Amino acid sequence: MDAELKPRLGLRRWLLWSALVGLLVVGQTLLVVLTLRYEHSRALDRAEAVAASIALDIRRLAVQRLQGVQDLQWSTAPADWGAQARQLLTRMPEIARLERRDAAGRILASADNPLGQPLFALKARQLLRMDSDQACASALALLSPQFSRSYFVPMSGGAGMEVIDVCLPEQEAGQPAGFTAATLSLSRMLEAVAPADRRYELTFVEADGARLARHGVSRGLGLYVARRSLDLPGVVLEIKVDDTTDRPGLLPNVTTALVLGLSIALAVVVSLLLRDMRRRTSAEKALAESLAFRKAMEDSLNTGLRARDMGGRITYVNPAFCSMVGFSSAQLLGSGGRDGALPPYWPPERVEEYSRRQSARREGLWPDEPVSPATESLPATLQGFETVFMRSDGERFPVMIYEAPLVDGTGRQTGWMSAVLDVTERQRSEEVARQQQERLQATARLATMGEMASLLSHELNQPLAAIASYASGCQNLLQEPDEHTVPMLREAVGRMAEQAERAGRVIKSVHDFVRRRDQARETISAAVLLESVLPLVRLQARKSGTRVEVQQTASDLKVQVDRTMMEQVLLNLTRNGIQAMERDTPLHERILRLQVQALSTGRVQFEVQDRGPGISAEVAQRLFTPFFTTREDGMGLGLSLCRTVVEQHGGTLEHDVPQPGAARPGCSFRFTVPGARPAG
Ligand code: ADP
Repeated sequence: MDAELKPRLGLRRWLLWSALVGLLVVGQTLLVVLTLRYEHSRALDRAEAVAASIALDIRRLAVQRLQGVQDLQWSTAPADWGAQARQLLTRMPEIARLERRDAAGRILASADNPLGQPLFALKARQLLRMDSDQACASALALLSPQFSRSYFVPMSGGAGMEVIDVCLPEQEAGQPAGFTAATLSLSRMLEAVAPADRRYELTFVEADGARLARHGVSRGLGLYVARRSLDLPGVVLEIKVDDTTDRPGLLPNVTTALVLGLSIALAVVVSLLLRDMRRRTSAEKALAESLAFRKAMEDSLNTGLRARDMGGRITYVNPAFCSMVGFSSAQLLGSGGRDGALPPYWPPERVEEYSRRQSARREGLWPDEPVSPATESLPATLQGFETVFMRSDGERFPVMIYEAPLVDGTGRQTGWMSAVLDVTERQRSEEVARQQQERLQATARLATMGEMASLLSHELNQPLAAIASYASGCQNLLQEPDEHTVPMLREAVGRMAEQAERAGRVIKSVHDFVRRRDQARETISAAVLLESVLPLVRLQARKSGTRVEVQQTASDLKVQVDRTMMEQVLLNLTRNGIQAMERDTPLHERILRLQVQALSTGRVQFEVQDRGPGISAEVAQRLFTPFFTTREDGMGLGLSLCRTVVEQHGGTLEHDVPQPGAARPGCSFRFTVPGARPAG
């Protein structure tokens, strides 16, 4: 990966994760806050509802109590008033005291509620009747019951009671006849209407918030407070309802629990994601490392690598392959398919052959190349095959290709992978070695010939010199013949015969030397004989781009030959053929054909055919003369040696005599050797 890109990606990932976590935290906080708010508003609503119902209940209670007092006022004779009043007071504990007053407001009779302390025991009624009197005055004016403002009545033991008076006017014949006043205890009223669950503190408060009377087991906390005004005739009372329960905790109810549970689950999911992410990152890192390693490995390889799909299209090449052929990967990739461009490294003269091979591969017929005996036991892909590629500058060079199927993860073949080796150097060194070997052999042959020549000249020189001197002696004798001439001639001729015999013996010994090789003959398959020289022939042929074709009519032909000498003959003839095509034959015409066939005579004929310029009649005359050559570096011994060897095997070495004006140039050398019946 790009070194610059890495930290930028890391920063971006970090920012994204921070944003995600931040959003989650904000979202969760918002959710919890909203839930708490909702809880809060619900508690407030409940308090409001309680306040509304309390106000209603108190109004109802006040009206009931008022009716009770009205009943007492209307239906009771003054004499019974006391008893009736007490009865009423026991029924209605909220009424702390009842008074009957005259039209001037003087108290005629009064009754305190027997359930509590007498109201004005500590402080005289006289001192606390101002509010009550005001209510009575307005009741008289309005001719309807009126409530007074509330006031505090101190009682023994430091206690006291906040009360409210209600005054009912009485009329007789349209004239004010008196009043009935009832004193209501505010706290008892609250007690009477308090809800059963005792969760709220109920209070009567003044407009400024001062508390008048309260009811409740415990104090309210001031969190969820509701107020309601209670409009009674003559007075407005304010009721306050205060919830005694505390603020909702973090887990006050199912909703919050649910929200929290979700938050925790979310946090777990996020942490799992993070872990997964970390794993993925490390896996990615490992993958990147292994990719980098693979790339470095491929880049540093000296072997060219090339991958092709099933259609033969190049899908991958490594740098070694690019530098081998001298084309960039952009020029190579995509070429070679069924419809794509030809691979630029195919030599134009081989396109046809390579295309055939490729289509054979596509049809699954490949590899069909003849394999050499050394690699026959190996799987086809490991044997490799040799072919010729072209560099971008047009230079042809030999390569060794090892090809294997490219199989993907599912076991399906997706193409071919090839390792390509440039074997120019190897072949060059092989060629050098071969040339050295050949030179050595030639030198050895020359040495033998030279030796033989010097031996012959030395051995023959003496008898020939002797014969020559005898001959000139004979000539001298014949110039002036006398009676001694005949006996002397006889002797001289006898000596000459002796010397000739001696020369004959020398020649015979050379003949014997050659004959001795007869014993070296062996029965060998013609195919094996060819096989042993073909590598050398091909090596030499490749230099000039010559193709070598071998034709055998039967695979089991056997011959009886001096193998070393016969190899020499074949090598000489093929080398001559290749050399003949080297100069003027066009590249696609350079074909050397080797043919072996059995003749009806039981002999086996070898033929070496080239497409060179052929042999002119002039050259043909001296062809087998030792040391005759038309080549600068030639020795002119090859063909004469060949003929000797072939004749040694009882055959003749023949060659085409050029027909004047023949359409097809070229030359072919033929010879026969003894065949051997195949075993079995
Ligand atoms: P060298 O090859 O050393 O010249 P050879 O005895 O093999 O000696 O060949 C003698 C000559 O015969 C060659 O120089 C060449 O002119 C001619 N010659 C041999 N073979 C062929 C051939 N196939 N085509 C044309 N000329 C040939």
